[in-house]
Amino acid sequence: KLYNEVQDLKGNIRVYCRIRPFLPQQSAKQTTIQYIGDNGELVVTNPSKHGKDNHRLFKFNKIFGPTATQEEVFQDTQPLIRSVLDGYNVCIFAYGQTGSGKSYTMTGPNVTSVADWGVNYRALNDLFNISQHRRGSILYEVGVQMVEIYNEQVRDLLCNDSSQKSLGIWNTAQPNGLAVPDARMHPVNSTADVLELMNIGLMNRAVGATALNERSSRSHSILTVHVRGTDLETNAVLRGCLHLVDLAGSERVDRSEATGDRLREAQHINKSLSALGDVIFALAQKSSHVPYRNSKLTQVLQSSLCGQAKTLMFVQLNPDLESYLETISTLKFAERVS
Ligand code: ADP
Repeated sequence: KLYNEVQDLKGNIRVYCRIRPFLPQQSAKQTTIQYIGDNGELVVTNPSKHGKDNHRLFKFNKIFGPTATQEEVFQDTQPLIRSVLDGYNVCIFAYGQTGSGKSYTMTGPNVTSVADWGVNYRALNDLFNISQHRRGSILYEVGVQMVEIYNEQVRDLLCNDSSQKSLGIWNTAQPNGLAVPDARMHPVNSTADVLELMNIGLMNRAVGATALNERSSRSHSILTVHVRGTDLETNAVLRGCLHLVDLAGSERVDRSEATGDRLREAQHINKSLSALGDVIFALAQKSSHVPYRNSKLTQVLQSSLCGQAKTLMFVQLNPDLESYLETISTLKFAERVS
């Protein structure tokens, strides 16, 4: 089949693809990306193969090519983020192999340069700025939690205690809507708070890691922004929550090579990413049973992965020919859930 449709808004799931540029140190610039269309079409080729079936067409709600800026990416994400102020729950996550630009999209490469800010900083800052101005009679408060899921253990990234036990996840029918009530909730009262909280989170993510990059690529980090609006005239309270997720790398680990800790990590990652795929697939199919309970990841995200919530997946691609098989596997994941 030539045409594989990674399509439209079935339910409230949308899929954006982002292709990172070649890095300066990458010498062989042979790419698998043959064509990026204006309407979300992407043609991927396997240049080492010849003949008719060496390329495939995929379709997304939007594609960001290698020259797309952080600002452009945010512009197309902002309306979704702002819908949290209307009481929607929203989940935005980046999926792809390690090195495909997930952290670049979600966090950004360089916090000190505002132009480099990823979706996380921009979203927090935007929601905080809006909350400064009362909207009609509604007064907003913004609070943040940040957790990491590593080997099915949930850890608070805004708490400096590195010996903390795995946190429990509550059924999201709780009145305060918190999935991880024991993770610290920090109010956001200024842009400086945004920067400080993100810094604490990123630093704690590195703690306990044998090698920083290694660990962060094998854990999921979840920044949760809680927005509470109180109508000062009626006292009615409206809540919305935004989950911003940098997933563990989706690359397959060779079972014959991985042993011990590495194998265990790989199994946990595998399990949680397929559980995420199964949940979104069930939602896209409008299935009456959505299998949230198969992983910690889907349990934490449950309130923002349901019929009334809005979901955005960034499908991250490395353009390199050597990544061809991982690229196809990432695209197949996207194809299944959309
Ligand atoms: P991942 O989080 O998927 O492992 P990273 O976000 O760390 O990947 O990206 C891998 C490398 O590519 C980093 O050096 C990052 O700065 C760079 N990179 C990723 N996306 C882009 C982009 N859109 N523009 C420029 N450099 C990028």
